[in-house]
Amino acid sequence: MDIYIGSKSSICKYKNPYLQKQLNHTINPSKFFTITNIHITQYVIITMLTIYFLFLQTKEKSVKSKGISLFQNCRMKMKTTQLLGAHTSIAGGVSKAVDLAEKLGFTAMQIFTKNNNRWATKPLEETEIIAFNEKLKRSKIKFVVAHDSYLINLCAKDKTILQKSREAFVDELYRCEQLEIPYLNFHPGAHGGQGEETGIEIIAESINIAHSQTTGFKVSSMLELTAGQGTALGYTFEQIAKIIEKVEDKERMSVCIDTAHIFAAGYDIRTPESYAKVMTDFDSTIGLSKLKCFHLNDSKKELGSRVDRHEHIGKGFIGLGGFANIMNDERLFEIPKILETPKGKEQKEDIENLNVLKSLIKNR
Ligand SMILES: [Zn+2]
Ligand SMILES: [Zn+2]
Repeated sequence: MDIYIGSKSSICKYKNPYLQKQLNHTINPSKFFTITNIHITQYVIITMLTIYFLFLQTKEKSVKSKGISLFQNCRMKMKTTQLLGAHTSIAGGVSKAVDLAEKLGFTAMQIFTKNNNRWATKPLEETEIIAFNEKLKRSKIKFVVAHDSYLINLCAKDKTILQKSREAFVDELYRCEQLEIPYLNFHPGAHGGQGEETGIEIIAESINIAHSQTTGFKVSSMLELTAGQGTALGYTFEQIAKIIEKVEDKERMSVCIDTAHIFAAGYDIRTPESYAKVMTDFDSTIGLSKLKCFHLNDSKKELGSRVDRHEHIGKGFIGLGGFANIMNDERLFEIPKILETPKGKEQKEDIENLNVLKSLIKNR
């Protein structure tokens, strides 16, 4: 008997005595071919489909796992490369601050652009501006913020002080522009008994005046949240939001959270739950998009004390838990974090505080 293998269209003939015996001459060749053909086709289709599904599953798994690990890697990298630094001394000139910040390993820094306790100030020298900008470009410092003078009160009750403050504020903006510093951080002001609403009006007016005198400037006016000591304004998210609302050029406005200040003002950031509530409140009142900087300071005073006293990280009433909440909040990885904790001339304490902050970053 002839054994036929293959599809009907391409049947090949084989002579096989063994199979011939097995088949025992009982099978009608044409029937046999049809059944075998269907079985083979089914088998091939099922096998191919199984292989295809297995392939799809493997592919999906590999894409998923690759995606997750890439995402995790990226998140971990962002976590560990958060821009960190401290307020840095400008003793010897603003460019010296860059040297010191580099030496201390900062990737972010805050400076005064002048003596912060004096009204009168010399203009920045051209050589100093060039030195500052060149050193900065060569350094690992990726973020600089200037803090304005403590004398400035943009809602001072005394009209002479108010005028002086407004002029000094414009000068601060001008200095930032010269030094290519993108943010000028300032406390909104203390109303001195005029009332909070009036204070907010005057602050917004002062900012509008300053902006109108510095049109085209790149530097952003950064409102710092305060502890609300005395008659200081800016101790609630609502007050900051109101000021921004009254400023004409809102694009030029940004916000800085000082942890010691908001804690003293009554915002509890110690537990993950209370912290989450505070950040939700911030986002719905001011908007996280306005948040461009953090001042990380522990507080020597209790929650809601309205007293502004900075303490080393973990040594005050906020404690390590509060800072761990911030350091591991992925919404804030890209927001620079600056220390304003107590320090000596060489700022060695800053290194210790930064190490504490880095140690709080969780691996997952
Ligand atoms: Zn401040
Ligand atoms: Zn601060």
